[in-house]
Amino acid sequence: MKWTWFGWQGLSFPVPEEWNLGKITGDARSGSVRLDDGEVVRVEAEWRELEGRVPGVTTLVDRYVEKLTKRASKSGARIEVKRRVQLIPEGSLPDKDWEVFVWRGEARAYNLAWRCRTCGRIGLLRVFAKGSEDIGRYAGRIFSNLEDHPTEGRRLWGIYGMVLMVPEGFKLEEHSLRTGHIRLAFKEGGRTLTVDRVSLADIMLRGRTLKDWFLDFFDKSLRDFERPSFEGTSFLGHPGLRVFAPPKKLWKRPFFPTFDRVRRSLFLRGCIWRCDDTNTLWAVMATSKERDDLLAEEVTKDVSCHKSSHKPGSDAQVPSGSQFPGQMGAGR
Ligand SMILES: [Zn+2]
Ligand SMILES: [Zn+2]
Repeated sequence: MKWTWFGWQGLSFPVPEEWNLGKITGDARSGSVRLDDGEVVRVEAEWRELEGRVPGVTTLVDRYVEKLTKRASKSGARIEVKRRVQLIPEGSLPDKDWEVFVWRGEARAYNLAWRCRTCGRIGLLRVFAKGSEDIGRYAGRIFSNLEDHPTEGRRLWGIYGMVLMVPEGFKLEEHSLRTGHIRLAFKEGGRTLTVDRVSLADIMLRGRTLKDWFLDFFDKSLRDFERPSFEGTSFLGHPGLRVFAPPKKLWKRPFFPTFDRVRRSLFLRGCIWRCDDTNTLWAVMATSKERDDLLAEEVTKDVSCHKSSHKPGSDAQVPSGSQFPGQMGAGR
């Protein structure tokens, strides 16, 4: 089984490639995500930032289990809960208090409840079994690699195998998760960062160059800029283009005022490339008042376009299962 990284609003963990985002709610302060394998839910995660006195993890799990048991008995179901399950090595997640517990009813789930001493988040991560499958194999790998805050000033964002590191100051402004086109847009002060991944590169580039595709695909977002200039180069081992566009000259702007005044005097820099390994097209673009803002280049450096099992910006692979005796499969 191939693994990749999932990352959303600061929360990140490794997941099998077939487990993909199904539902998102909330934001960085509190929210939840659900991943499924196309048939059933495989992972659910919830997080919350808490201020002031926060109950310990044991208390949080007590409460959760109580609710779960009540709900089950109301519906006439029996539920069996095992607390403090030794699934991941002691000393894992060193800056967090945590507990692994398992419940079995009609479904089976491994649960990791945690409280982070670094960022103050509390959270619950659940991994669900399918049929009689031994999910300990997956859960251990997922739990022991959980992170819930930026590391070295960056957050890991990862969806559908699109994995990147974004400086922590940047907040998610907008996301679009269409089949064939994934887009994440971030903002920090007057700077913006957008990352687009488009599928079926071979069809997109049929009879046209990467440059033509780019000008066409981003036609609207390029309106506030002078015609871009391109420089051939390579990114992540693929041929690509470096894009630069200055703000549109004043006299060319429409008479009626645009709402987005700031945008009028921004410089655009971007990196675009085609990943042949995954048949995708990529565009990482940043706008800034600074002509020489190199954000797009910096973000591109650590994008995982075809090696998504690799944690961007570090040498660490998703660890193999060997450190969890009896729990994991043979690895990737
Ligand atoms: Zn944290
Ligand atoms: Zn690639």
